[in-house]
Amino acid sequence: EATSFYRETWADIDLDAVTSNVRNMKERIPEDVALMAVVKANGYGHGALQVARTALESGAEWLAVALFDEALALRKQGIEAPILVLSPIPPQHAGLAAKEHITLTVSDQEWVRQARNVYKEEEPVFLHVSCDTGMGRIGVRNKEETAALVREVGLDQRFVIEGMFTHFATADQEDEAYFNEQYTRFEMMVDWIHELGLNPAVIHCGNSATTLKYPAEKRHLFNMVRYGIAMYGLSPSPDMTRQLPFPLKRVLSLHSRLTYVKKVEAGSFVGYGATYQATEDEWIGTVPVGYADGWLRGLTGTDVLIDGQRCPIVGRICMDQFMCRLPHAYPEGTQVTLIGENGGKEITADARARQLQTINYEITCTVHPRIPRVYW
Ligand code: PLP
Repeated sequence: EATSFYRETWADIDLDAVTSNVRNMKERIPEDVALMAVVKANGYGHGALQVARTALESGAEWLAVALFDEALALRKQGIEAPILVLSPIPPQHAGLAAKEHITLTVSDQEWVRQARNVYKEEEPVFLHVSCDTGMGRIGVRNKEETAALVREVGLDQRFVIEGMFTHFATADQEDEAYFNEQYTRFEMMVDWIHELGLNPAVIHCGNSATTLKYPAEKRHLFNMVRYGIAMYGLSPSPDMTRQLPFPLKRVLSLHSRLTYVKKVEAGSFVGYGATYQATEDEWIGTVPVGYADGWLRGLTGTDVLIDGQRCPIVGRICMDQFMCRLPHAYPEGTQVTLIGENGGKEITADARARQLQTINYEITCTVHPRIPRVYW
């Protein structure tokens, strides 16, 4: 993609890494199990369109997004693959979904009733039934709710139950007790649907963690997996880092350049609140990235990489800039790496997540849109 921008900060998005992460997974799951590339939240911050295209070229058959707008945007940009919207949307949008061939998630009979009332066209509305097996977020929970939903859909030929799915709350954790309970419950719910006379074409439950742990044996993953975080080269949790079946390749790196370099005298203060005081004469570099870019104040005290050296961020991170201590003078324009490799050293999204006491998902999702993405 041709991108033109003038700021000295950018995120490199390595689409070959997406290809590798998708192909490696595809090779491990059975041939009749489809891979759904989860590209919600702008592809976890990486760029939904570019990741979607790459994943589809690498063997993914489906796409998943969170919002109806995200699905519509992909359609506008020419994506023709099947897309599932994972979150509930208002029933009055059923018509537009049908027109754009976007599959919707349904969790209750009432949604179907309302959609049937407002939808006046003939084009089919494709639905995946969400089953709440223990996530406690959306979905039918018992036999009565399931039967009521199926009955309502059965009253109207324009509505088609094409799929059913559930989402695991603890797939990334070592203790599998709760995961197993959810899995057993889902198997039971699949049986209910079959007993009600339906045979949905697509049944799916596996997120990245589940799919990495059980690609083919022990637990079967029905006929589709929803592949998110691992497609972006990140482990679903620190627990799982040690047991990955293939090396995940990092997709996003974040870089900037020194915009100002100076020597300060011992005793000088740096940044808001004058919280940092130089203990000796020190070289200080200014980097044009701040909390408005997603580089949150909680990252004060972490390092960035310059010329293969770890340079600590000193003083509070500002809205658009931060300062770091340099081992010696560097020319303005010198590259600074916030995530990724620099001179043989590496900073991972996981390390930044640890510092912020959060998960790697949050690190890439919050790289602000004002940081240009450069696709390779
Ligand atoms: N399925 C659903 C319903 C989700 O909400 C998500 C992400 O949160 C995923 C799949 C993908 O999960 P992961 O990124 O852990 O693979």
